[in-house]
Amino acid sequence: MSSGVAVDLENISIRFGDFTAVKDANVAINGGDFFSFLGPSGCGKTTILRAVSGFLEPSQGTVRIGGKDMAGIGPNKRPTALIFQNLALFPLMKVWENIAFSMEVAGASAGERRKRADELLDMIALEGQGDKLPSELSGGQKQRVAIARALCANPDVLLLDEPLSALDLKLRQHMRTELREIQKRVGITFIYITHDQGEALTMSDNVAVMKAGVIDQIDSGLNIYDHPSTPFVASFVGENNVFRGKVKEIKGNEALISTRRSGELLSRITPAQMGKLSVGDEAMMFIRPEALQLGPARAGNTTVTAKVVNEEFEGNTFSVFLEGDGGKTIKMSVPNTGQNNISASGQNLSLNYDAANAVAMPAGELASE
Ligand code: ATP
Repeated sequence: MSSGVAVDLENISIRFGDFTAVKDANVAINGGDFFSFLGPSGCGKTTILRAVSGFLEPSQGTVRIGGKDMAGIGPNKRPTALIFQNLALFPLMKVWENIAFSMEVAGASAGERRKRADELLDMIALEGQGDKLPSELSGGQKQRVAIARALCANPDVLLLDEPLSALDLKLRQHMRTELREIQKRVGITFIYITHDQGEALTMSDNVAVMKAGVIDQIDSGLNIYDHPSTPFVASFVGENNVFRGKVKEIKGNEALISTRRSGELLSRITPAQMGKLSVGDEAMMFIRPEALQLGPARAGNTTVTAKVVNEEFEGNTFSVFLEGDGGKTIKMSVPNTGQNNISASGQNLSLNYDAANAVAMPAGELASE
């Protein structure tokens, strides 16, 4: 099997008439990486994938696969294979015939095709199932067959356009692990697009977060979660409480932010945000529900006082919802220790957090706005 071919998008813009679907995208995908484009519907993910596969030429910029400029090279001449949401296995062909379909088109003998199909069946952990019809397989098994079919022609890069979205939740979660394992086994570059942050974070080596045609951040899932670069990323990836205010003071890598309802809140400034905030600026501060703790501040922590609106029991955690600034709700996640007795609605609670677990940045557009 081939492995490790890099994909580079250099200054790619894609326009449809007056509408710019993708603007100045610069993405370097390492060979052998599982790379995801993550963003809400309509942000341009599929359009980028079409430019990589060759179904569309960018209006500007260069797509390189394995260092080679792909301009003017059609989809069937590129070392890529594409998997869509709709798998479309041929219902009257056996599983092995489905897998080896591209070889049949290329004129390979039945023996060669069967051999290659059996190798791929092993790889997707469906050995011995080649003689079944697609209708005899489960949804997850069909998904794996579609992947094997795409891998049959030995692509250097597999492009996956929301391949799990038609599956039910449980199977979708199971398939995340399967897909990641298959990618590691094959060792080729996978480019995956999804609007589901859970999928992107669990499977990918690196993720590009997109908003309205623009890439806001490219990083590992962990860094995107812990060091979001824009208010959009902070609010789109995972849950985050947003506090708005004005910067009152900056000390080293910390900012003190005056909010209307929640008082003065201290926050770290991540290295990427250094120099972007000045005293008097409108700022946003983000704190994850799990970073808020019950009780008055311990040494060095900041206190927030807020009124409880609602509480939900979720098994291993309680979610407590409190009244925040500007009609927004603050969510706190408290582990269930077996002896929680949180609070009644209307009660004022003192919460505290460590400024190192908050992120401050210049105010900007949030994902839900
Ligand atoms: P989804 O998750 O809903 O598939 P997406 O992020 O993949 O969304 P794209 O399909 O890339 O989004 O579309 C990005 C934008 O470009 C959308 O506003 C879409 O309407 C527009 N667009 C896509 N293809 C064309 C086209 N051929 N002509 C005109 N506009 C297009």
